[in-house]
Order: sequence, then C-alpha cells, then structure tokens
Amino acid sequence: MAAEKSLAMVLRTVEFSESSYVATLFTEDFGKITALAKGARRRKSAFESALDLLSVSRVVFLSKSSDSLDLLTEARLEKAFRSSQKELSRFYAALYIIELVNLMTDNRDPHPELFRTTVRCIGRLDQGAPIAPHVLKFELAILRHLGHLPALHACSECSRAVPDAARMAFGIWNGGVLCNSCKIGKRKVVSLSLPALQLLRSWSEPEPETTNDTDWSLPQFDTEWTKVAGEVRGLMNQYLCDTLGRRPQLFDFLGFH
Ligand SMILES: [Zn+2]
Repeated sequence: MAAEKSLAMVLRTVEFSESSYVATLFTEDFGKITALAKGARRRKSAFESALDLLSVSRVVFLSKSSDSLDLLTEARLEKAFRSSQKELSRFYAALYIIELVNLMTDNRDPHPELFRTTVRCIGRLDQGAPIAPHVLKFELAILRHLGHLPALHACSECSRAVPDAARMAFGIWNGGVLCNSCKIGKRKVVSLSLPALQLLRSWSEPEPETTNDTDWSLPQFDTEWTKVAGEVRGLMNQYLCDTLGRRPQLFDFLGFH
C-alpha cells in the first residue's frame, strides 16, 4: 500500500459506521477516489471540517490495489464553502456542480484540469458570482474536458461546415448542429437561434489557466447572456439528460429549469 497525497474536493460522504464515513473525493492527481475515513464522525475527529461537502482539502490516503476502499489517513482543510448558510440557491448550484463531477467521472481517472476548473467555479459561486451563467460555463467546461461537447460549428452528422442562419437545427441525439440535408428526418431536433449558438461557442472555449476565482465579472454575462438564457438553458437541460442518461437530482433545486 502506497501513501498518496493530493489536493481534493469533497463530493459526497456517507455514514459507514458509528464513527466513520466513506468519502467520495475528486482529487487533483488521481481523479475520483472512494475512501474510508475512520473516526471522522467522532466529535473530536482529526478530520474536522476537512470532509464537509464542497471543501477543498489536502488529503493523504493509502491506496488499495483491489476493489476495496482506499483508506484516508489525513485531510487538512484548505478552503471551505461558506455560502451554504447565507444563500441556499448558491449552495444548491455548488452541489449540482459536484453532482455532475461525480456522475461524469470514473474512479481513478485523473483530470487535473477539470479539478482546477471545478475548484475555480465553486470558489466563484461562493464569492457571489451570478449563478446561472456560471453553472452553464461549468457544464460546457466539463463536457469539453470529458469529450462530450456538442458540435457547435460543423454538422454533427457529415462534419461539413454549417453556414450561419437566423435559426439553426441542433440534434440532441446527434450531438450538435445539423446541416440542411442532415436534419431531414432526424428526431429530437431543436431550433436554436444564432445568438444562442454563438454564446455556446464562445463560452465553451477554454479559460486561460491563469485566471483565478475572483476573475468572474466578465462583461458579456450581462448583455449576451440575458437575451438567450432561457433558450440555452432549455437546450442544455435536454442535452445533459441525454448525455448522462439520467436527470441530475439537483436539477429541481436550481430554479432555472
Ligand atoms: Zn450534415
């Protein structure tokens, strides 16, 4: 058994025994892990608030080779999520973010860039960033990191460039925009306005790694966003449910579906 160290975000904790938790952690270096935290439920636990949901903690765990749980030996809190008591909608949005991470990543499949994107997004939400646009930016980011981003430029069927028009066909089942020939006879096709598509294109571009979690006051959030928010939200809800094969539990708590 090797002792591994990483920065990690707490995605989920489940009571395991009277004194212990099983924690699902999204680590920067090893991807998602599931680890037993012995004694974590005791009042004077060594883990303290390092295992609270949404906390970013520095963890040490003993990695088990088989299917059995890893063993968490240390967790030191680096950054707590503080908005939960003040504003429930912010807390729900942050929980939705980690639900997506939990649903869409596999154990031991490292995505360090996605980890940093997640920490940055949760940090911005905690600091008062507008909720709906930041949730959308995260959804596009996780889809991009995991290779599920819809085709937004070329036809998702024939890969030919689709010329811009006032309204564009978007095939939910096809995974993106469709040209005039390919859209014929397709099912689950949504008509998307050009401004909505343009917003999806620009917001799905990767953010420079150098931006920090206070750089969220992007000017286009007010102007571009408000005009197409409802349309884009409707499309993303359908696309995500189709990609995940299920409806995320937190959808109903977000208030913008
Ligand atoms: Zn086509």
